Amino acid sequence: MMNVAVIGSGTMGNGIAHVFAQHGFSVALIDINQAALDRALGTISKNLDRQVAKGSLSEADKTTTLGNITTYTSVADGVRNVELVVEAATENMDLKLQIFRDLDQHAPQGAILASNTSSISITKIAAVTKRPEQVIGMHFMNPVPVMKLVEVIRGYATSDAVTEKVMDLSRQLGKTPTEVNDYPGFVANRILMPMINEAIYTLFEGVAGVEEIDTVMKLGMAHPMGPLQLADFIGLDVCLAILRVLHEGLGNPKYAPCPLLVNMVMAGRLGAKSGEGFYSWTHGTKELVLAERFRKS
Ligand code: NAD
Repeated sequence: MMNVAVIGSGTMGNGIAHVFAQHGFSVALIDINQAALDRALGTISKNLDRQVAKGSLSEADKTTTLGNITTYTSVADGVRNVELVVEAATENMDLKLQIFRDLDQHAPQGAILASNTSSISITKIAAVTKRPEQVIGMHFMNPVPVMKLVEVIRGYATSDAVTEKVMDLSRQLGKTPTEVNDYPGFVANRILMPMINEAIYTLFEGVAGVEEIDTVMKLGMAHPMGPLQLADFIGLDVCLAILRVLHEGLGNPKYAPCPLLVNMVMAGRLGAKSGEGFYSWTHGTKELVLAERFRKS
């Protein structure tokens, strides 16, 4: 059984631990916060129950999957015998650089160090380690147990052998890996975020309302949800941060964040997690209710 470690047990980390454990890997799930680890185990168990109820997993598989996960609050203890680490801690450059310095020190020499970052340069992360050819991006999508894609991001120094290994491991998880190079936003966010930004500009310039914009993209382009609803789910602060990475990293004014997005983030209207963005989420995330500000009088 191959040993892997997952750093960070939040939204993404618990999903990543779930899929590795379900596919027979022994997983060390590491977080500095014990409460986050406890919550993650609860979430994984609940998500496994859903798979059992749907008939895609047996009760015995659920027990085996949970048995494959061990939790740690110390990186040094958790990564001692692993062949792969997937880092999914908070999106903060200094924090990630420190984690990779620690991983380089404590993980076995041959171990591959992967990051699930949405927007931080893999090349930059790799450069703080003594093994940049073994550092790579493994960008899973939310919710991890459901979404098929893994964007595999090659840093400037990532070796062919490490890339092949990570592509192969992703396939062993039942995912479809896609190889891309390390430039700002990679592929997923380089295309998604300008679309979301354009939707916000379309609203800002009064071309159409929130519902009209989302309806055009849902029914006209067969997107499962409109770009403004999606922005609310991703978090408007996260969208703004990624647009800033694109704008700064690529130096092209076409990536400049819409002033309405900037204002909403400054006002603390961050989308579903704050209760309001383009829609109001105080009644839960199932029902679409326009935020009062965007209702037509
Ligand atoms: P989150 O806030 O839900 O979870 C982050 C976890 O990291 C927390 O439990 C926190 O306690 C832990 N953490 C912080 N510092 C740590 C440290 N030094 N060591 C160990 N654990 C530490 O965040 P998330 O949404 O799961 O995002 C994690 C990563 O995944 C980020 O890099 C983000 O850009 C990326 N990502 C997120 C999404 C998404 O939809 N949420 C999608 C793709 C990629």
